[in-house]
This record gives sequence, structure tokens and C-alpha cells, in this order.
Amino acid sequence: MPIDATQPYDDGNIFARILRGELPSTTVYDDEHALAFHDITAQAPVHILVIPKGRYVSWDDFSARATTEEIAGFVRAVGRVARDLGLVAPGYRLLANVGSHGGQEVPHLHVHLFGGRSLGPMLAR
Ligand code: 5GP
Repeated sequence: MPIDATQPYDDGNIFARILRGELPSTTVYDDEHALAFHDITAQAPVHILVIPKGRYVSWDDFSARATTEEIAGFVRAVGRVARDLGLVAPGYRLLANVGSHGGQEVPHLHVHLFGGRSLGPMLAR
């Protein structure tokens, strides 16, 4: 069920629980600003979720409220994960769903990183 991206941050959301170590995840990267782990329902040979450590509901919330340091740290982490996984030369796709029309289901900002095959058109028609 897609979320309302204007809702307040919910500390009980799945990714908050992963950040607190209450739920397992297969971590591929972890630093001060970001955590990256495999999506539980992979939609490509590589499907990683990168999330900021701070309490941000969505890309909208993050871009409006995060500090410059948090934004820089998060963006650098996304790039680093893709490089570490060898995805730059073959190419990859980033996606951040926001709110209802975006189809966002988990109310903690996450960037999907897809790769490992040619990904086809950007949107289903
Ligand atoms: P959204 O639709 O919000 O952009 O994407 C949420 C993503 O989170 C989905 O691709 C879904 O498979 C993934 N997901 C949901 N629950 C879990 C979980 O408990 N662990 C992991 N690793 N991924 C999850």
C-alpha cells in the first residue's frame, strides 16, 4: 500500500528497524550516513536499497530537511556502492519512489540501485 509522503516519520517502519538492528538485512555497505543492503524481492540481478541513517520519510523530506553533510554523505555512498559492485562500466539505474503516485511503500527514504543486465525502458507503458 503506497504511503502519503507528507506523513510524519514513523520509527516503527521496516527500514528504521533494520537500522536499529532489530531486523536482519544483507548489508553491502555501511558508513556514518548510509546503509546499503539487498532488496528482499530483487527485481534485477543486482537490486540494492541505499538508505540514509537519519529519520527521513522520502526524497522530498530528505531534500528539504537534511543537512548538507547528510546529503553529500548519502549521495557519495550511493555512488560508492555502485562502483564497489562493478556497475559503472555496464551501467545501472537509480530509482526513488515518492508517495502514492510514485508507489513508495516504505516510509523511510530509499534509493533502489538496479543492475546486472540491460534494464530496458524506464517505465512500463
Ligand atoms: P518502495 O516501493 O517503497 O520504493 O520499495 C520498497 C522496497 O523494499 C521493495 O522493493 C521491497 O521489496 C523492499 N522491502 C520491503 N521489506 C523489506 C525487508 O524487510 N527487507 C528488505 N531487504 N527489503 C524489503
